[in-house]
Amino acid sequence: MSVLRVVFFGPPGAGKGTQARLLEQKFGACQVSTGEILRRAAREQSALGKQAADYLDRGDLVPDQVMVRLVAERLREPDCRSGFILDGFPRTLTQADELEQMLDGTGLALESALCLQASNDVIIKRLSGRRTCKQCGSLHHLVFNPPARPGICDRCGGELYQREDDREEMIAARLRVYENQTAPLKEYYSKRGLLKEIDGVGSVEEVGKRVLKAVET
Ligand code: AMP
Repeated sequence: MSVLRVVFFGPPGAGKGTQARLLEQKFGACQVSTGEILRRAAREQSALGKQAADYLDRGDLVPDQVMVRLVAERLREPDCRSGFILDGFPRTLTQADELEQMLDGTGLALESALCLQASNDVIIKRLSGRRTCKQCGSLHHLVFNPPARPGICDRCGGELYQREDDREEMIAARLRVYENQTAPLKEYYSKRGLLKEIDGVGSVEEVGKRVLKAVET
């Protein structure tokens, strides 16, 4: 089994979290979801959580220096030695530069930057029906992937909830943030020969096959 070192980006609702989890299971690499780390910190009201809470509620990006420190610390943990899937980081050009420097120092360069794409219509349908597990962060959808027992996570039995930033009125703001601050990563990674654009429309299995093909070629 090869060691995987990839980043996942794309608009909110493109399927990064779901696909990152599948890659984690397949390759034994560690999924680092920065959104999930921040939401947990906010729930626990840790120092990081207090710093991040307002940004999360507005759908804005948490400042780069906070994110870079968080990811640098996470990547130093032993479980990331067997590979990592960064889900939701980098989200700005500054973060991408910092990541490159971080990895340069370890000799473990990125293998690819996976960009999942989906149209705004698809994104709005996915996000407004999405339900997230409070305990393990697993994703369900009221229509496309309903839990066996309403309101209960299939994976761990935790409580499912609707993220504040998945409410319809917040989605347009998050899409704007993506276009302005994160979409420029396409050119950044394309110049480095790392960009793999993947069509994120279809069932989880269909998209999963495209993702696998992208990481294996
Ligand atoms: P996600 O779960 O990836 O949709 O992220 C949810 C929220 O967490 C985002 O809207 C941001 O407020 C924050 N966040 C997650 N990752 C980052 C990042 N790399 N840079 C800045 N903010 C982030």
